[in-house]
Amino acid sequence: MPGTNLTRAEATARAAILDVLSYDIDLDLTTGSETFGSTTTITFTSAEPGASTFADLVDATVHEITLNGVSLDPAVAYADSRIQLDDLAAENVLVVKADCTYSHTGEGLHRFVDPADDRVYLYSQFEVPDARRVYTTFEQPDLKSVFTFHVTAPESWKVVSNSPSPEPKALDDARATWDFEPTKKMSTYITALIAGEYHEVQDVYEGKFGTIPLGHYCRQSLVPYLDRDEVVKITKQGFEFFEDAFDFPYPFGKYDQLYVPEYNMGAMENAGAITLRDEYLPRSKQPRSFYDFRASVILHEMAHMWFGDLVTMRWWDDLWLNESFAEWACYHAQANATEFTDAWTGFTNARKQTGYRQDQLPTTHPIAADNYDLQAVEVNFDMITYAKGASVLKQLVAWVGLEPFLEGLKAYFKEFAFGNSEFKDLLRHLEAASGRELQGWAQEWLQTSGVNTLAPEFTLAEDGTYASFAVRQSAAADYPTLRRHRIGLGLYDLVDGALVRRDAFEIDVTGELTDVAKLAGVKQPDLLLLNEGDLTYAKIRLDERSLATALESLSALDDSLSRALIWGAAWDMTRDAEMRASDFVELVLANIGQETDSWGVTRIPVFAAQAVGSFSAPANRDALKARWESGLKALLEAAAPSSDHQLTFARTYASAARSEAAIADLQALLAGEVTYDGLDIDQDLRWALVTGLAASGTFGEAEIDAELGRDNTISGKEKAAAARAAQPSAEAKEAAWDSVVVRTDVANETARSIVFSFQRGGQDEALAPFVDRYFEAADTLWDHLGTHRASVVLEHIFPKPAASPELLAKADTWLETSPAAPAAKRYVREGRDEVARALAAQERDAQ
Ligand SMILES: [Zn+2]
Repeated sequence: MPGTNLTRAEATARAAILDVLSYDIDLDLTTGSETFGSTTTITFTSAEPGASTFADLVDATVHEITLNGVSLDPAVAYADSRIQLDDLAAENVLVVKADCTYSHTGEGLHRFVDPADDRVYLYSQFEVPDARRVYTTFEQPDLKSVFTFHVTAPESWKVVSNSPSPEPKALDDARATWDFEPTKKMSTYITALIAGEYHEVQDVYEGKFGTIPLGHYCRQSLVPYLDRDEVVKITKQGFEFFEDAFDFPYPFGKYDQLYVPEYNMGAMENAGAITLRDEYLPRSKQPRSFYDFRASVILHEMAHMWFGDLVTMRWWDDLWLNESFAEWACYHAQANATEFTDAWTGFTNARKQTGYRQDQLPTTHPIAADNYDLQAVEVNFDMITYAKGASVLKQLVAWVGLEPFLEGLKAYFKEFAFGNSEFKDLLRHLEAASGRELQGWAQEWLQTSGVNTLAPEFTLAEDGTYASFAVRQSAAADYPTLRRHRIGLGLYDLVDGALVRRDAFEIDVTGELTDVAKLAGVKQPDLLLLNEGDLTYAKIRLDERSLATALESLSALDDSLSRALIWGAAWDMTRDAEMRASDFVELVLANIGQETDSWGVTRIPVFAAQAVGSFSAPANRDALKARWESGLKALLEAAAPSSDHQLTFARTYASAARSEAAIADLQALLAGEVTYDGLDIDQDLRWALVTGLAASGTFGEAEIDAELGRDNTISGKEKAAAARAAQPSAEAKEAAWDSVVVRTDVANETARSIVFSFQRGGQDEALAPFVDRYFEAADTLWDHLGTHRASVVLEHIFPKPAASPELLAKADTWLETSPAAPAAKRYVREGRDEVARALAAQERDAQ
């Protein structure tokens, strides 16, 4: 039984005989709040008359199926999410009339009622295989076609799809129909429908290839937070940059961006109809890193209009390339075309760290994963795909040079426009443009797993110069590949209290030991930094003197990217039990107040909190918690008014507060009895304080209810749910568990808020029963909750705060004996590994 799966072999066989000429899709959104009418007419040819194939449709009630005028019995033809089609003609017409189901999980056609005003909002989310939840499809990226949508909806709604929205035609009962023009040729997964009482504004981009209408949409209750000038500015900067860099006009006419509720991901590159999570329109003050990230998301989706939508992967094997490219392109565009000129520093401080982390888990996989079926795609869609992939593309650009890279791209877009391609097609163009052989490069970077470590190895002459210098490359025992790396070397000296770059140059590192003859006879600097410029993807180590200089004088280094490399090295040394967690926390407390990179300011305290809560030796933990708490308070008091530092330290203090004095501080801040100049206790900061007070057991249900009374929005409901789950009581944990592990009807974003809030340090008693219950539930959770919810629960409800050898043994037994799906076991293996890592770090911290 295929269920909802589809194998690459099935897709290849289907594509070999079918050519899909057109879809005509009629959707009726006026038939109630549970289902909608869906009539699909597909015209397609078969290269083999008489052959059989199948169409896809999930979770539908099928009323009629006709193939070439012959009626098929749905009870026979529609089974297991497929419609069996036999005896194909050379030219075929398939008509399927069905009722499909609205989702509350963010997959298919999601339906949302805004608690602020009871207005209804719908949006589609189809990647990877979910267009088949809304209309009948041949659901695979290489069966591109043109799509004509007809949508019946309440006449007061906005209805948006890939083609420009037409004037609605009025029907009876305050209904209307929108007849869209056929789309350009595209894959099913980037078609889209967004409908409801959305607010709409229109702008226009005038570019070198002509004008592009720019629509922006959001819920009515978010209208005050739609910072139109800013999002339009980034959008225009993006179009100017990409149309020039790719030398190809934007292919899809208009460009709408729709900010939608309860969205599972950041955003989705539907052709000309981008959906983005509406948390990107914040109602409360956010740090600069938030806007930096939003700009990167806007540009990421825009890059997909060319790379992904215009030229599309043949099969999901190349999903990594699709995402890695959009990632690389968005940071490249940010750095060169927007005010976020230091975007790559933020990438090093935040995004890239998620790639390193994922790549050191026992479940890591090559960037180019073998996605033999849709289940494999779901498992491999992770930070290897995004963050490591983008890092490796950055290395590729350093390897071939930016100009040849862009020349290769331009030729690639022209050859494959509106078609499908594979990675080898891109590689061929990059080889032609750069003159470099890339097959070997692709093999060692894309077909293998794991991260290399680069360390300096040298001898000194008596006069303090290097007698010899080499870069030693190593790899984890399980993933022994050594790679070619283009890296920078930076030499820094302490001059009058500042760390000043004396010299920097690039070299190619190959194999185990790469001699750097150029440094022989050069005076040893106070700090020698490998991977200067962060060109490659590798862990770096510092020699003893350089490490001492870095730890002592990090804030004296005025280059934010170099600092980011040192922050990163210190953090992964802590994770690798090579640096004491207590020392890392002191490094952060001593330097974070002077950090200027916006991502550094917001992300590094998160690492420090993890060092305190998970990596500190149990014997040191209470003292380190107290040190962290008082250090944060001192940082908060010293922070400049209205700065990112001030906001970040306030939020971090709220989640760190455990002592009576700190809890009293939170209460005073919430009550307005204590104020800091420039720190506005706005609604989101109020929730951070309320959640901190709930986690400490100071606040209970009554105080959370009262706060929700002030904030009757979906955001308020989600944050209240998180605050409830944070409480250290048996009742609160039981209720949270019931909502996310037992029940399946809690809306996706609310469920996620609860999951993220459930496991907390210092709540051992309340959480103790949920260690065994986690493993019991994990046996069947994958089927019970479905892929998306189950993965979030399995990852974040793993009982990490109970880290102990006993927990490792329990996980091992479960992994050996559980009947759970391999995909579910992945998360338990990862949780187990994180616990093992924490235990090693704790041992190091005790020394
Ligand atoms: Zn993407």
